[in-house]
Amino acid sequence: MSRTIIYYKTYPLSSSDGALSSPTSVAASVPMHDNNRNNIATMDAISLGRPAKIRKVIQEAPSWICSTSSMAIRTKGKNNSIQNIIQPIVDEIKSGFQRIDEKEPVSLATADSAFPHLPPCTEATEAIVQALIQTPHTACYTHASGSPEARRAIALHHSFPGHSLNPQHVIVTNGCSGALELTLSSILDEGTLLLVPQPGLPLYEEIAESHGANVVRYRLDPNRSWECDMDNLEKIMAGVSNKSPIGAMVINNPSTHGSVFSEDHLEQLLDFALKHHIPIVADEVYGNLTFGSNRFHPIAKVAVKHGRRVPVITTSGLSKQFMLPGWRIGWCTFQDNIYGSLREVERGAHRIAKFQHGVSHLQQSAIPIMLSQSTAGLVNWKENLRATLERQATILCSNLDNCHCLSLAPPQGSMYTIVDLDLAPLDIDSDIEFAQKLVQEENVFVLPGSSFGVTDTFRVAFSASETTLEMASQRIANFCSRHAKIELREEKGRES
Ligand SMILES: *Cc1c(COP(=O)(O)O)cnc(C)c1O
Repeated sequence: MSRTIIYYKTYPLSSSDGALSSPTSVAASVPMHDNNRNNIATMDAISLGRPAKIRKVIQEAPSWICSTSSMAIRTKGKNNSIQNIIQPIVDEIKSGFQRIDEKEPVSLATADSAFPHLPPCTEATEAIVQALIQTPHTACYTHASGSPEARRAIALHHSFPGHSLNPQHVIVTNGCSGALELTLSSILDEGTLLLVPQPGLPLYEEIAESHGANVVRYRLDPNRSWECDMDNLEKIMAGVSNKSPIGAMVINNPSTHGSVFSEDHLEQLLDFALKHHIPIVADEVYGNLTFGSNRFHPIAKVAVKHGRRVPVITTSGLSKQFMLPGWRIGWCTFQDNIYGSLREVERGAHRIAKFQHGVSHLQQSAIPIMLSQSTAGLVNWKENLRATLERQATILCSNLDNCHCLSLAPPQGSMYTIVDLDLAPLDIDSDIEFAQKLVQEENVFVLPGSSFGVTDTFRVAFSASETTLEMASQRIANFCSRHAKIELREEKGRES
């Protein structure tokens, strides 16, 4: 991200009644982004005749402040620690021509960098084009919870031998984020308990806090491939007062730190959820993007085997599994238990979905094609994506593992992994300083662990192309050896 420099000339108003500029000169004051060298030019305001006369601004009534909802105010967050840590680092990122060393910026902080080397599959784009041309009824409203065709396809996608999901238990949403917001909005109130994983997606907490919910982070154990720490979960529940209503527990599998839960672990979680009467909200947006011998087990499927005693809401979408985050296609599915515990929550979610009258009908028209097993080319495309991510993960991880101060376990799935940072041999004091200096010196952006609650680590995405990942890991390696403590460097010199 680059700072914006605005180049414009100001033109004094010919009218004498106020200090405001005219609409014509305002329109000509186009902000110019300094990341495009060719665009830097001084803009001249184009005068289109006499400037319109603008009424003098009334100076009185300074106490006029519009009423703001407590929900909007709560979205400021309690301490905003993530933003406070990340923003100063982001501010340091410059484009190549702004730097003496001309290094172009590389971000390993998010998985967005997959484009353009992993373009969407042609089946997806053809599906949208065909819908546009051949099914003009997509210009009409459809059911607020989703078009019947899309809901049928999603229900089938979430059915398995021994359990078929009825399409009425599906709501199509604006991405998986929309599914999380809808789901949590139909569960949480002020004071309701929500268990969220740490590390985990900040969105869970942000949505919950906007409802005034009581968010409690449970620990994921790095020594057990980021499984949920069951002792920590029990300890949290022991401290919860009988009076506080229990909302839900969010799990993310495969996760934003590269873990994939085993079936045994999912059963453990279901035992815990049953014991404390906690419904599970399972964010499974990465689906079967798993590597090696790791297999993805939807928790809804395990819950059926478990006797269907725990209600499960699953959120997912096309964003990650099909590399289509901009299309905003997601959904949630409600799998109640045998006692019907989830019934009212689900009804509420369908009612809340009516506020927006559903998501784009046109986009929904792609869902049946994307989820069909028989769409030619799709299965290959998905396998290619999975294999590409696995190969890229191997390249990045083995390169980073070679650095004297870095170590990591190979990721089991998704697009991210967490790297352990040993600061002892470095002249650097924290993961935040590491990330900041890495941007300053190498223009490589990684997410410092302090921003997601795990100090002395950083998170990297491996969705960028092999060439980019090779370059980024080389720069990180150079950075690490440059920052080795002097005595270590001398020792190394003597050895060689
Ligand atoms: C990206 C992501 C989401 C949001 O998905 P969208 O479909 O883009 O809204 C939700 N959960 C996790 C774990 C993610 O990584």
